[in-house]
Amino acid sequence: MRDLWSIATVKPGENEIQQLKAFDAEREEILKKFVLLASQVLDIPAGFVSVLDEDSQYIKASHRFDLTVSSRQDALCRYVVESQAAVVIPDTSLDARFLRHPLVLGSPYIRFYAGVPLITPTGVAIGTLCVTDTEPHLFPGEKVATLTMLAQLVTAFLTAWHAAGFTDTLTGLPNHRRLVRDLLFLQQAQDDRLRRLIVIECLDLPRTFELARTLGIEPVSNLLQDLATLLPLRLRLSPGDLFYVLSAGRFALLASDTSRISAAWVAGRLEGITADVGEGLSVSLSPFSGETLFQAHIQPPADIISQALEAMREAVSLKIPALSFRDELRAQQKREMSLMSDLSAALRGGGGLYLVYQPKICLHTGKTVGLEALIRWKHAVHGELLPAAFLQLASQTNLLALLTEWVINESIAQLVKWKLTRYQLPVTVNISGQDFSRSGFVERLVDSMAKAGLPHHLLGVECLETEKVIECPQALKGIDALKSKGFSVALDDFGAGYSNINYLSRVPLDVIKLDRSLVSQIATDTAARIIARSIITMLKELNYVVIAEGVEDVQTLNELKRFGCDQAQGYFYSRPLKPEELEVWLQ
Ligand code: C2E
Ligand code: MG
Ligand code: MG
Repeated sequence: MRDLWSIATVKPGENEIQQLKAFDAEREEILKKFVLLASQVLDIPAGFVSVLDEDSQYIKASHRFDLTVSSRQDALCRYVVESQAAVVIPDTSLDARFLRHPLVLGSPYIRFYAGVPLITPTGVAIGTLCVTDTEPHLFPGEKVATLTMLAQLVTAFLTAWHAAGFTDTLTGLPNHRRLVRDLLFLQQAQDDRLRRLIVIECLDLPRTFELARTLGIEPVSNLLQDLATLLPLRLRLSPGDLFYVLSAGRFALLASDTSRISAAWVAGRLEGITADVGEGLSVSLSPFSGETLFQAHIQPPADIISQALEAMREAVSLKIPALSFRDELRAQQKREMSLMSDLSAALRGGGGLYLVYQPKICLHTGKTVGLEALIRWKHAVHGELLPAAFLQLASQTNLLALLTEWVINESIAQLVKWKLTRYQLPVTVNISGQDFSRSGFVERLVDSMAKAGLPHHLLGVECLETEKVIECPQALKGIDALKSKGFSVALDDFGAGYSNINYLSRVPLDVIKLDRSLVSQIATDTAARIIARSIITMLKELNYVVIAEGVEDVQTLNELKRFGCDQAQGYFYSRPLKPEELEVWLQ
């Protein structure tokens, strides 16, 4: 891991400094009025409000004072901040400290200076309110008192401003609302500069909850606060860069300079960061960033933010540290949305969906002993679609529930058509973890079968995503209930990826389907053959009915028979067929 970065404790006042450094046009307008007031009341021509960090001084609002930033070393205000007290320099030319001072000898030619600290409610001086001139002045005690009072008003104003709904209460950083407001502000100002918005996810929500559950709320709050302070430092933000917190652990950066800062640059700066959460524990953060380039005057704020978020989500799903928003991404999203809206229409009776049935053959008798129902979609524009084209998307919406219901109803309707004919065979449908845990799932199935006058053994389920099912007590209960009602339950895709045999004992099953990836290499690969054989032997010893899917040739079939496999399904026998084709095939 390159460049390990451990978050140390945040110094008091850091948050307030960051906040005040971040540009906020409306706030700066109001600060300007305070400066003007100070200058008028105290009868000194110029003045400003400044904020100081470790390296620099930033002028946030000024009146007749031409300086926006200086080094901290050069700032006269540093004497105020460091002493936490008023500093009056009636005439710099009479003060040995300033005889060769660049801001005295050169612009803005400071001759007179009176500054008082801006002290946060936690007692830290973060900047100053000061008046200044190119001529010397006397500045009696009552004027210092007035300036001090005005500075107190300024801090009171800043505290209220930062708390007023535009600030994240935990971290003190500008929040999501503030980002929207700032983008709107740029839009209204007809800002046509090319800008960059970067969204950075350091901790996702589930992980934050998980940490809070195991460590407690307090260390996690501290961690989020520390992140909020140290990320901007780590990213070496310049005064024009705005840093926001969007939600716990998720940040946004509105970069003023598109050439220096990018999502990839951010990812590089944050690579391998870890955070201390106390008691010697550290959490590795591996952040993901997504960015979009935009022009505020032509793009609505919500659009800009959603593009950056989309790029970030894509980065997360591809496990790439940083990604830029591309138009193709948006085009793909549009295609997906329209596909899902078509699917929704189809499921509500619009047509196009149908089931095909693939026979299962008993290897002991050679007879067809069952059928698997598989969904197909004849789409008006895209043509024939396989489940891979739409199932994954549907599972991210409520459409999967509708789809399962549709498949079950359709299968039952087909079973009714085949009732008491020579084609009557048990049909299995594919069911995901989500389906099992839905309340009333089993009751509805029982009800539908009763209405159709069909015995339960004619319908079975193939359980997909077993690893999710195992984690979900609700789903396990659903499977239990199904079994106790006499429906057969098979475990689909056994041997694909996750295959912890320990879980077998936890799911009440009768049938195990070996995944195609396990079966397809039996004929050609010795290792695959040995693995398949030992898995089948083990499953048979545990008394499961074992089905092999994806059997495409006779060699594979013969090996499977030799290993004691019970049933087989695959192109060798038949592709999945429409009901009328199947009837012909069965004859
Ligand atoms: P699955 O349940 O494991 O289904 C087996 C898949 O392998 C089917 O693909 C089938 O057409 C294909 N197949 C069967 N024999 C062979 C063979 O010999 N060689 C090859 N190369 N492939 C073979 P299909 O129909 O595209 O379905 C893919 C997956 O989509 C299914 O895998 C299942 O997980 C899911 N699926 C299909 N229909 C439904 C459904 O109605 N509901 C749900 N929730 N999922 C479904
Ligand atoms: Mg299946
Ligand atoms: Mg399968």
